[in-house]
This record gives sequence, structure tokens and C-alpha cells, in this order.
Amino acid sequence: MIATTPSRKTEVAAESGDSPTSGPLMEIQALEVRFPGNRGPVTVIDQVDLAINHGEILGLVGESGCGKSMLARSILGLVPTPGKITGGRILFERDDLLNMSTQAMRQIRGDRIAIVLQEPMTSLDPVFTVGNQITEVLATHRPEMTRHERRARAIQMMEQVGIQFPANRLSQYPHELSGGIRQRVMIAIALICGDVRLLVADEPTTALDVTIQAQILELFVQLQAKHSMAMLLITHDLSVIAQTAHRVAVMYAGRIVEVAGAVPLFDGPLHPYTRGLMHSLPRAGARPRKSRMAAIPGTVPNLADLPPGCPFFDRCAHRADDLCLETMPVLEQAARGHWVRCHRWRDLAPYEPPSPQTAAS
Ligand code: SF4
Repeated sequence: MIATTPSRKTEVAAESGDSPTSGPLMEIQALEVRFPGNRGPVTVIDQVDLAINHGEILGLVGESGCGKSMLARSILGLVPTPGKITGGRILFERDDLLNMSTQAMRQIRGDRIAIVLQEPMTSLDPVFTVGNQITEVLATHRPEMTRHERRARAIQMMEQVGIQFPANRLSQYPHELSGGIRQRVMIAIALICGDVRLLVADEPTTALDVTIQAQILELFVQLQAKHSMAMLLITHDLSVIAQTAHRVAVMYAGRIVEVAGAVPLFDGPLHPYTRGLMHSLPRAGARPRKSRMAAIPGTVPNLADLPPGCPFFDRCAHRADDLCLETMPVLEQAARGHWVRCHRWRDLAPYEPPSPQTAAS
């Protein structure tokens, strides 16, 4: 097995026979984000290497507090103060986003990289109509368009995201819409410029009920294919990933702990944390729903007080006392396109999916 350098890791972590197209659109290399803490800086994103290929849906999964949303914010240049990106590179279509001016980054954001957030009610401005909020993006990124053209484009985009009677909806306010339609409006806003290469969706279905969740996921899959864009789908819920992603990255305590194609990952997860997430999935045949984390004892560790070794140590049934506690595992290649950060992945028994009796229901 190969212990890798960051650049090698990123290159190889993009490989997967499950991706619809080859080659990275974005390469995140050795990314590090820190916040000041009472006892010195706290590293919330630690040496993250990850590639997002052209035209693929990459699922990023982990419990709350694992760093998923901070990784998304880093990509968009939106790390909240007093946090800082303290190392690494984010290459997007050959540009290093971390070396760009605020103005250039603002231009890319909403035009070539867009985001959809969990709670559309807090993302939409309650005092402006849906029409104002959709066309405002065009006013910023497509100033050459006339008002009439912007309105026509907004109606066209609303139709594309499955909003009925779009012309009537333009004059409505967010509180007049259901949660599902508000999320469709957010997706329309994200894609309105028509040139998005990467859509970041951060827990986009978490606030929705199960039926609407399935519809919105289906919409994402359709739009991703129609626009040939890449998508980073962030969720705490592996069942969301199972329905949509071509590849999956699992994050824990600010680090990537496993990356693989969706099929190899679901058939044979190697990291004990990923296996715990799998055991949190609903029973086969059950409708998709929020997964529970009851299969993994304990909670995500305090990032300000991590052990020198594996951050999953306290929760891991497979830990080897000295090695795991004292030495941080590196990301190793277990198979083509399958990477895992665990000292003991070779020693674990082959993966057994949870039986219907033991799976969370
Ligand atoms: S390195 Fe050790 S503690 Fe960490 S996940 Fe692997 S076996 Fe468990």
C-alpha cells in the first residue's frame, strides 16, 4: 500500500470507474483552516485532499461538526471570521481560488460555482419577492441583460426546477411558499446564470419532509445531468448519498477518512467510522429518512482537544491501544480509487451489511 504525498493523494483520489466523466474540475490540496481558540489555534480542516471530477456527484458525508460545511465555505471563499485558511490550494479550472481577489471570487461565486443551503427560509430574504431575488443574481452577473430578458430567464429557470405557474410565483414572497418550493427557488437562484460548473449543496434536503426530500434529490440528479455540472452534495445522511452520488468522501474531525466510488463504498466500507454510518442507514426497503447515529457510540471529539493519534479512537471498537492513540493514520490506497485513513483496515473482517433486525429503522 502507498502512503502518499498530498499531491499524489489528490490525483489518485479522483480516480473511480463510477464517475461519469474523468478528470478533476476542482482539486483541493492539503487544505487547512484554523480558528483562534483559548489554548491556541484550533484546526477545523486538517490537510484535506479531495478532487471533484467534471460531471460527477461527489457525496461528502459525516456527522455534524466534522467540518463538511467549513470545507464548502472554503471552496466558496466564505470562511467566517475569525477563521482563516492557513494552508493548501483550491484549484478550479486551473485557477487557484485562494490567490484570487475578493472581486474575482465574487464573480466566480454565483456564476461558475453556486451553493444551495439547508434552510431556504433563512437563505431567502423575507422582504423581497421571489422574482426580485432570482433576477438580482442576473443583475450582478449578467448586467447586459434587460429587465425583460431577466424576467423571461427567471421564468424559464423556474420551469426547469419544476415550479408550476412560474409567472405567478414571481410576485410572491418566501413565506407564501411551501418548503419544497422555496428550495426549488433556491436551486433556480443557484443555476440562473446558466454557466455553473460546480454546484455545492449543503444539507439541501435536511429541512424537508421525506416525500419532498426524494423529489428534490431527483431534481438535483436531473439538473446535474442536464447541465453537465459537477456537484458536491454535503449531508450527514448516507441514504441521501446512496440515492445520488457517483463517489463518496467520508469526513471525520476535519479530515477525510475514506474516499471511494459509491458502489465500492456501500459494498465494502473499510473505515470503522464509515461502517458505523452504514449501520445507521434505514432498513432495506424502508423509505429514505434521516439516519440515526446510534450505531456509533459517543460523539464527535472536541477539535481543540484531539489526541495525537486517530481522532476516532474513543469511539472505535477496533482500536489498537498504542498505535491508534499515538500515531495519526495516513490516507492509504486500498484499491484503485479507494482510499482509507485507518491503521487497521487490513485487519478488519470483511464488511457485513446490517441485518434488517439490527439496522436503524
Ligand atoms: S486508526 Fe485505530 S482507532 Fe482509528 S479508526 Fe482505525 S482502528 Fe479505529
